[in-house]
Amino acid sequence: MLRARMKVDRVRLMVGNGTLPKMKLDEAEADLADAMDEALLTRALYGKDLTVEQAAETVAAAKRRLDRRKKIADEQKKLVDMGVIAKTEMTASVDDVGRAQKEYDWAVTRTELVRQIEAMAANEAELMRQLSTLSPMESRKIAEYYPGKGSFSPADLHRVEVAFAGRFGKPLPISANGESAVHRSLGFDHRGRVDVALTPDQPEGVWLRHFLTANHLPFFAFRRAIAHQATGAHIHMGPPSTRYVASAMNSGG
Ligand SMILES: [Zn+2]
Repeated sequence: MLRARMKVDRVRLMVGNGTLPKMKLDEAEADLADAMDEALLTRALYGKDLTVEQAAETVAAAKRRLDRRKKIADEQKKLVDMGVIAKTEMTASVDDVGRAQKEYDWAVTRTELVRQIEAMAANEAELMRQLSTLSPMESRKIAEYYPGKGSFSPADLHRVEVAFAGRFGKPLPISANGESAVHRSLGFDHRGRVDVALTPDQPEGVWLRHFLTANHLPFFAFRRAIAHQATGAHIHMGPPSTRYVASAMNSGG
């Protein structure tokens, strides 16, 4: 990216003194913009934790990269049609479009996933809030709460994962492990808590609730979502989550 930036500066000077046509500056600027988009995508690819806003930025960057490559391929196509270049000479730019399309598809899929995680986290935050205001009898309609030993460690999670895989021959479907950028953006403390995408009454959910109870591990089994949410029923392992209090937020927690 530094190289692209230096090139823009050098080309700007040369365009300024008339050595190069203005078109060359546009090209160098497009290369710089592309390098910046690539850097953004690389960060997103290696950083596993994204907020919805950051995920949406990756889609925009991937779209710009795709559009630039389509434009180049279209221009070459015109040259092929006019007989200026051979068809084989545009193979590389067609491959570039293919790669950029895959990159864009990946960004869209990833953003969709982050949105789902946010919907689930927001749903759980709302259910936790409702539980704190309801009578015990009303609470039971939303969730079953088992306090167990009160804490849930990484070793406990490992035990649950091994037992689940042994029983069902597939990995435990974890939808949120501990805290994420999405939870933080909602002001929701989910550290040391793990959500499992199982409804409490499907066979795997029934088995999990029994296993957790037998091992004194705390959980919430959410039976229903808040009114407008489709995804909601799940099993939250660990103590109840809390909202970050203002002081904890300010101290960077
Ligand atoms: Zn949870």
